[in-house]
Amino acid sequence: MSFPFKKFLSYYKPYLGLFVSILACALIVSIISLVYPLIVRYITKDVLINDLSTALSEVYWIGGLMFALVAIQNIGNFFVDYKGHELGARMESDLRRDLFMHMQQLSFSFFDKEKTGQLMSRLTTDLLWLSELYHHGPEDFLKHSVRILGAFIILFFINAPLTITVFCFVPFLAILGLYFNQILNKAYTRNKERIADVNGQVEDNLSGIRVVKSFANEPIEIEKFNIENDRFFDSRKKTYKAEAYFYNSLETIIKLITITVIIFGSASIAGNKLDLADLITFLLYINHLIEPIQKLIQVSTMYQDGFTGFLRFMEIMNVKPAIENKPNALTLQEIHGEIEFKHVSFRYEEHLDDVFTDLSLRVEPGKYIALVGPSGVGKTTLCSLIPRFYDVTDGELLIDGINVRDIELQSLRKAIGIVQQDVYLFAGTVMENIRYGNLSASDEEIITAAKHANAHEFIMSLPNGYHSEIGQRGVRLSGGQKQRLSIARVFLKNPPILILDEATSSLDNESESIVKESLETLAKGRTTIVIAHRLSTIRNAGRILVLTENGIVEQGTHDTLLTLLTLAGTYAKLYEKQFELQV
Ligand code: ADP
Ligand code: MG
Repeated sequence: MSFPFKKFLSYYKPYLGLFVSILACALIVSIISLVYPLIVRYITKDVLINDLSTALSEVYWIGGLMFALVAIQNIGNFFVDYKGHELGARMESDLRRDLFMHMQQLSFSFFDKEKTGQLMSRLTTDLLWLSELYHHGPEDFLKHSVRILGAFIILFFINAPLTITVFCFVPFLAILGLYFNQILNKAYTRNKERIADVNGQVEDNLSGIRVVKSFANEPIEIEKFNIENDRFFDSRKKTYKAEAYFYNSLETIIKLITITVIIFGSASIAGNKLDLADLITFLLYINHLIEPIQKLIQVSTMYQDGFTGFLRFMEIMNVKPAIENKPNALTLQEIHGEIEFKHVSFRYEEHLDDVFTDLSLRVEPGKYIALVGPSGVGKTTLCSLIPRFYDVTDGELLIDGINVRDIELQSLRKAIGIVQQDVYLFAGTVMENIRYGNLSASDEEIITAAKHANAHEFIMSLPNGYHSEIGQRGVRLSGGQKQRLSIARVFLKNPPILILDEATSSLDNESESIVKESLETLAKGRTTIVIAHRLSTIRNAGRILVLTENGIVEQGTHDTLLTLLTLAGTYAKLYEKQFELQV
């Protein structure tokens, strides 16, 4: 990817005034720094040769002037340091905001592929370098090029041949800079990838810490972590080695310049082509050059570092959401809840086989249908097409007769409630978690929803009632309790379409019967698709669809399916299995 400069620079736009004043300050500061050796030269060459008493009073004056310059310089530096870093930090936070907003827009297919820890690295550590680059990049470049260029011009006027001699070292510096830039660029990219791997490892481990402990697999986890951690260390070690080589070679070249100036300068003095004051001035300027040259090259490594961060940022920013609103998408005000699959085929991205092909199905508004079938056959997938978590590969999916692709996404998803086997709750209070279903709900509405979900009683028995903290992902609650909170959340959302995806599968019998009861209340008056492998839970469904690898093979009520269809029918087989299990 070529570097997107336009986009990179666009982040300066809101702070142009601040940015320009920082640059102006940096410019003044570096010009002032160029003056000191000239003052020393003036004192040694023009003042101290006078009568000593008049000379001294002039030196006092010059001292005063120098102090004033120091004061201006320090105020300028203070502004550049303080405001400059502030500018960098602001721009960094803008980038982070944009990236986060963009990530929120991305589709399931993106998150299926990416590791959470890796994404977190891009949002955090990668962007840290950019605040440095945005601020130091232009400012240091300006400051130090002015100092180098200014020094050369001044030296040229003092003694051209000696200056040209010094100039001969420039190509060496340039070659050194270019060579190490390449190496360091790779090293910085590698460092970023490695720390992202460490983050990924930690994220994965901490999310699954309960599984880790239940299998007593801490030693393996530590081993896996150590591998990533060592790789990161290794990468850092190599980077520091390259940096050490680089900065010391640089130092050596600069020392060589000083030695050359001393030798050539002394020879010039012997040949009466230079006086002592000029040699001192030369040495002062050479000394003065060390910092800018070093900094300039440091800046270029900082460029590398920041640029790779920006490229990694843009990699994500360039991902288009697979599922987006059409420009003239319809916002659905009132949804009756008719769902129709018309010859729908679906395949996951990068997969060769369809999950299902040419599937047709119609659910009338307010009807309660059940979807059964072997695990892995695509029941969850089928339902995830309705809120457009994924788009159909072929065919059409209609809600109230309108193609879901034409419906404004937010209004579509607001119309669909999903209760799954895995409940995701956010860290926070019970109240906050239920309110997630409808942010504008009042406390009373939340309590009513909790009552409908059979959750009120257990909530009241918690230490702080509705204001009890539930812990990260709800660790302080039982499976059944979490499920009832998630149901309360959907009650509050009040969608016309409901998908219950094995909502009671992981619950014990007692919780299951409580949850089932609240689900039945929830389903009233809504178009409901219930996926279940416990057939007892779907006896009441108006229609039962059996999904197999060959699509929907059987439809009917529980009784008709059992009796009218042959016993070899898939549903009957499933039921037999269940029956055996229950006996
Ligand atoms: P069911 O709910 O009937 O058990 P799923 O709909 O979960 O089945 O899965 C159907 C098939 O699609 C399975 O083969 C599964 O491996 C695959 N699958 C499910 N989710 C994804 C995904 N996000 N990306 C790729 N393949 C998936
Ligand atoms: Mg499933």
